[in-house]
Amino acid sequence: MSQRPIYLDCNATTPIDPQVLDAMLPYFTEHFGNPASINHLYGWEAEAAIKKAREIIAQGINATPEEIIFTSGATESNNLAIKGVAEAYFNQGRHLITVKTEHNAVLDPCHYLETLGFEITDLPVKPDGIVDLVQLKNTLRPDTILVSIMAANNEIGVIQPLAEIGELCHEQGILFHTDAAQALGKIPLDVQQMKIDLMSLTAHKIYGPKGIGALYVRRRHPRVKLAAQLHGGGHERGLRSGTLATPQIVGFAKALELALSQQKTETQRLIQLRNLLWDQLSTLDGIYLNGHPSQRLAGNLNISVEKVDGQALLLGLQSVMAVSSGSACTSTKIEPSHVLKALGHSDSLAYASIRFGLGRFTTESEIHAVADHTVKTIQSLRKIRYR
Ligand SMILES: *Cc1c(COP(=O)(O)O)cnc(C)c1O
Repeated sequence: MSQRPIYLDCNATTPIDPQVLDAMLPYFTEHFGNPASINHLYGWEAEAAIKKAREIIAQGINATPEEIIFTSGATESNNLAIKGVAEAYFNQGRHLITVKTEHNAVLDPCHYLETLGFEITDLPVKPDGIVDLVQLKNTLRPDTILVSIMAANNEIGVIQPLAEIGELCHEQGILFHTDAAQALGKIPLDVQQMKIDLMSLTAHKIYGPKGIGALYVRRRHPRVKLAAQLHGGGHERGLRSGTLATPQIVGFAKALELALSQQKTETQRLIQLRNLLWDQLSTLDGIYLNGHPSQRLAGNLNISVEKVDGQALLLGLQSVMAVSSGSACTSTKIEPSHVLKALGHSDSLAYASIRFGLGRFTTESEIHAVADHTVKTIQSLRKIRYR
């Protein structure tokens, strides 16, 4: 295999944009200071860069800079939000609501809380992957302290009705957390208009560096209380101790700036490429689109394929394209994806699924090559197995 496979796994991670890398480099070398060093130029330079980055990120979601807490990524942000709220509000109630299709970085902290005496409701989704708002409303209780529902799904790309969820939560005085790891930079996010109280963000899904993210924590209407999960030097208003990673934070802000500046045009471009791919794949029969057809991320196409073995299919695609089946985070376990199962799929259909994650560097000729090879692979597998 001389050529590397075409990268179509942008829901798992993305390469750093060269402009992001350029913005970061000086902060590894000349401007290496600790932003907490208040007595010299090195510290001031780092502190100034972080201040600017914090402003850019806050502005990108219509928050204020003080509401941005830097973390190592969305996993940590989800843990801080969920455990931090549970610990700060347990006197007011011990019931939390989430959804079956959430990322494990939300489900696992919730289920950890169950072992401490909290009660968790995992809401089902409709067959298109979207939360049923009536059902959500009926699940809210006087002792519910938090609703955690993701903005966009990492496997099927489905976008949840954030503003409606925020409205329901705020009517009842319940906090609303959203994991926006997949949504940031790709769809408009406005914490005021959508009444979001906590929002998890990460840089590496938007052509920024790995290992940096943030948690938005609302300071007014209402002021969210949070118990720190990492204790130490008292950084980030005591909510997340640890020396701030200046280069990563600068890269995160640059990545968001780039994503927002091209959000509209990039969305249109990706929808065209995705339609091209889907048009070719759907010439075959027994191919199903997973998730809502239009209320989804522009770069995501997730299909289930009837009458082929999932493992054989992935093996057949591997040399030409880097795609994923089920969630990348759990793909070492051979288990049908919990997200596809929540859509009501049988195990075998959930197994034979492919997630195509298109991104900034995906070209039309790549999509043609991927579509051709996928169609041929499915056809030949079906001949072998179901002659
Ligand atoms: C990628 C992802 C995460 C994990 O983010 P990290 O920054 O890698 O910890 C969490 N939730 C969703 C929806 C994701 O897509």
